[in-house]
Amino acid sequence: MSAAGLVTGLAGQGTAGAAPPGRLPGRVPGPPRADDADWRWLRRHLSPKGRLYRPGEEPFEKLATPWNLRYADHRPAGIVACATAADVQAAVRWARTCGMPLVPRSGGHNYAGYSTTPGLLISLRPMNEIARRGDRLWVCGGATNADVFESGARKTGLYVPGGRCMGVGVAGLTLGGGLGFNDRKWGLTCDRLVETEVVLADGSLVRASRDECSDLFWACRGGAGGNFGINTGFLYDPVDVGRVAATVFEMSFALEEGVKVMRCLQHLLAEDDPEHDLDVRIEFGNPGTGPRGARLAVLGQYLGDKMTLYRRLQPLLRLRPRSCHIGTTGFWAAQKRLSMVSEHEAMTSRSLVPCRWLDDEAVCAIIEWIREWRPGRPGNTGYVTLFAMGGAIADLAPRATAFPHRKATFVMDIGASWDNACPDEVVDGLLAQTRAMHRCLSRLLGTRAAYVNFPDPDLPDWPTAYYGGNYRRLTQVKKRYDPDWVFRYPQGVRPY
Ligand SMILES: Cc1cc2nc3c(=O)[nH]c(=O)nc-3n(C[C@H](O)[C@H](O)[C@H](O)COP(=O)(O)OP(=O)(O)OC[C@H]3O[C@@H](n4cnc5c(N)ncnc54)[C@H](O)[C@@H]3O)c2cc1C
Repeated sequence: MSAAGLVTGLAGQGTAGAAPPGRLPGRVPGPPRADDADWRWLRRHLSPKGRLYRPGEEPFEKLATPWNLRYADHRPAGIVACATAADVQAAVRWARTCGMPLVPRSGGHNYAGYSTTPGLLISLRPMNEIARRGDRLWVCGGATNADVFESGARKTGLYVPGGRCMGVGVAGLTLGGGLGFNDRKWGLTCDRLVETEVVLADGSLVRASRDECSDLFWACRGGAGGNFGINTGFLYDPVDVGRVAATVFEMSFALEEGVKVMRCLQHLLAEDDPEHDLDVRIEFGNPGTGPRGARLAVLGQYLGDKMTLYRRLQPLLRLRPRSCHIGTTGFWAAQKRLSMVSEHEAMTSRSLVPCRWLDDEAVCAIIEWIREWRPGRPGNTGYVTLFAMGGAIADLAPRATAFPHRKATFVMDIGASWDNACPDEVVDGLLAQTRAMHRCLSRLLGTRAAYVNFPDPDLPDWPTAYYGGNYRRLTQVKKRYDPDWVFRYPQGVRPY
């Protein structure tokens, strides 16, 4: 690491630089084993607004619960709610000294429960400030899509391409890539990153950008959260959307129209969108309420006016949607319409990232799967969602950042969600169906590539699936910045 990469002169960091007393720093994490005196030490060495919560203390339960309730019984030994980067440094140093596993959490939305731990949960949620720095936007490491949206819409007027779900953390989103309704036009969330501050495994704070710790900066754009350090802040090159027009459209179709709808949409994306003003998300879904509930929904945005969009969508409109809304206009109103809040749920997901368009056979396989969905219990849903790729995403080479899927047509999220009270055999049935759809589409589309932000703990060849040819370089970055493998989880990048 270059000396220039070390952030110096951090004001108000109090005692963060002090090593906790007692044990040797730098020990590889083992089973949690801090005693009361250790916990008291940590509590004393946090900033005035930093907090430590132990089981039984409010709001431990709320903070401990991950978004995916499938992992709700993964309980930490303690939670540090960090208010400053110095709190993060103190927590990392303390955990290492105690030999305690640690994990960072921002929005807590990881599909596979990778922001859970039996050790120390380092929550960055209180660190959600957003500030304009010249023509750049500084976003603290615990901010969510909602925080960035609110600040853009109400204060700064600046937009960073982000995701749809308001509760998702900007940290997890950015570090794994970041898909949204503006990525075809302005790139993935990680493509707008120009600098990030990271607390490393030894507790030091570094700045990573094109000029400083450039290998770490490369890895922070697609190499996934929880791998190289704890990112306490992100500096983005935002889009000035002052004069940008946007129109949202929503349509639903009978499943039987799926093949025609997909032909039409793929033609629109591939042939009829030279400026990449169009973005869509296509969801084949079965809500688990009987065969009549199954449907195909198309949600999209056009960066232009309503009349032009209306003309462009004519081929789709001729397919007689069951419902159709073309209307919300104005950039910020459109982003609000596209946004959603997703309550905690128990779920599984498998993703695929094909580089070819879906032929009729692949679409028929999805339709058949949705139609035949067996929920086990009413209300258990099955879905296949397609996120359109291309445009500005493809402007970068697969090796330019750690995100490798630059030539993809779609990211496909194949999943199921269920009532967490369901017995194991029902859940096993849902997992088996999801696995079968994934296997079938993988064969038909000739790919095993997967999106690291939709992680699947059962994926056997995950390094290649998530990172393609970039995995080797990621292990080198890991070795340099976290040689003792302090930041670890089952599908985490390894230092060898
Ligand atoms: C309802 C829902 C909707 C979604 N929609 C989209 C979407 O539209 N587009 C898209 O691309 N993705 C989407 N995702 C996936 C989402 O991008 C990932 O789950 C993302 O990793 C979540 O980030 P988080 O901070 O909320 O999660 P967390 O669980 O807090 O963190 C995710 C990972 O990053 C690590 N981490 C957290 N904070 C930090 C930090 N500050 N520094 C370093 N590592 C950290 C964690 O340890 C964990 O390994 C969605 C997920 C859900 C559940």
